Amino acid sequence: MAKEKNNKMEKIVSLSKRRGFIFPSSEIYGGFANSYSYGPYGRELKNNIKDLWWKMFVQERIDIVGLDGPILLNPRAWEASGHTTGFNDALADCRKCKKRFRADHLVEEATGKDLEGQLEEMTKILKEEKIKCPECGKSDWTEVRNINMMFKTNMNSFDGDVYLRPETAGAIFLEFKNVVDSMRVKIPFGIAQIGKAFRNEIVARNFIFRVREFEQMEIEYFIDPEVKWEDLFEEWLKLQEDFASELGAKDKNIRRYEHAKEKLSHYSQKTVDIEYNFPFGFAELFGLAHRGDFDLKEHSKASGKKLEYFDPQNNKRFVPHVLEPTFGLDRSLLVALSSAYTEEKLEDGSERIVMKFPKKLAPIKVAIFPLLKNKPKLVEKAREIYDNLKTEYMCEFDDNGNIGKRYRRQDEIGTPYCLTVDFDTLEQDDVTIRDRDTMKQKRVKIKELNDYLNKKLK
Ligand code: ATP
Repeated sequence: MAKEKNNKMEKIVSLSKRRGFIFPSSEIYGGFANSYSYGPYGRELKNNIKDLWWKMFVQERIDIVGLDGPILLNPRAWEASGHTTGFNDALADCRKCKKRFRADHLVEEATGKDLEGQLEEMTKILKEEKIKCPECGKSDWTEVRNINMMFKTNMNSFDGDVYLRPETAGAIFLEFKNVVDSMRVKIPFGIAQIGKAFRNEIVARNFIFRVREFEQMEIEYFIDPEVKWEDLFEEWLKLQEDFASELGAKDKNIRRYEHAKEKLSHYSQKTVDIEYNFPFGFAELFGLAHRGDFDLKEHSKASGKKLEYFDPQNNKRFVPHVLEPTFGLDRSLLVALSSAYTEEKLEDGSERIVMKFPKKLAPIKVAIFPLLKNKPKLVEKAREIYDNLKTEYMCEFDDNGNIGKRYRRQDEIGTPYCLTVDFDTLEQDDVTIRDRDTMKQKRVKIKELNDYLNKKLK
């Protein structure tokens, strides 16, 4: 089973490269730190996921506004939020091969124990259980110690370390007052942001699941500390699950994991992860945390500025509490790839690989083919249709190879519809439309194409 699962991951990684979704980055220089580039189709897919999220959580919500804050913040912000001292991972070095590992992961994989934060205990278990180095197989570990996960950089105009943000949420709290003063928001309200975050992960692994540079989609949802938050919390969990379904995840592959009370930060009343059954097993996809008034209070203390909300209805001034739904974009994309990946046996005994993305996520919506490359009339007509449709949808024009090959390629990038211009087209002004999922073909009049595709795709 495990082999089969890894096999699926390998297939996804290989298809991603072969078909222009995701490339290992800096490959011509031997690669770099397990980082990746999103290729032409990966970029489209990623943008479609971002658009879907923005539509669902900003455009269609009267109570949530957007923000686009900087990656570099005043470093005092990371001191106030506790990141400079507390945003750590537990590190163990193998004395033999000098490779570095997350000690908590080594212990958990070997014993099933979650010892997050308990450094001495982890050192003891690594030794006592003779846990082997995944790289060289020896068991000779250094003491487990904390290592900060923020990337440091410097600014020519600033004396001291500057950090690349390890999460997008920070900027939201810093702009809380500006949003309240400029936007007439009424509590409860949210501020949403999509952007890059950077974490100096000890080990990057599982393709784009754990990387050092990634994107997050986050919301801080501010609430009155006196209202019952439990129902809202449940609502947010449901919304996160809904979003996972929109990515194509089946219900059976989504589950909740509630963090044990004693493991929560002192300010958090509840934290739940939404986990997805990735090809390597269940792991965190999204998170939802009740963070109380910790962030606003700390930033207020450190900056000396009041970060409060005034409720004119009951003449009440208070520091709001906050629910923080956070969504990883790269992990969302991995869910989309993993849920869409399908191998099908066809009637003639052959096999096809098809990416059954939800249509709104498909990188290319319509592919247009002239039946033959060397017939100018067909090519001209196909170009005309392409030029007409491209203003509405991401389209692709392809006149390479035989039609079967062109279908196979579009199946592998998940294109819902392929249109073929053939000799009948020139007589009857219609084209063949082939459906990705059913592989059924149908003739549709060119003048009805827009309506037809609109109905199917929107
Ligand atoms: P993990 O336990 O997997 O390291 P985390 O609990 O540290 O994750 P959060 O701090 O809650 O993660 O970050 C919010 C979201 O950002 C996660 O749910 C995940 O989707 C995404 N994320 C976090 N770290 C990474 C990473 N290294 N690579 C890709 N996505 C990440």
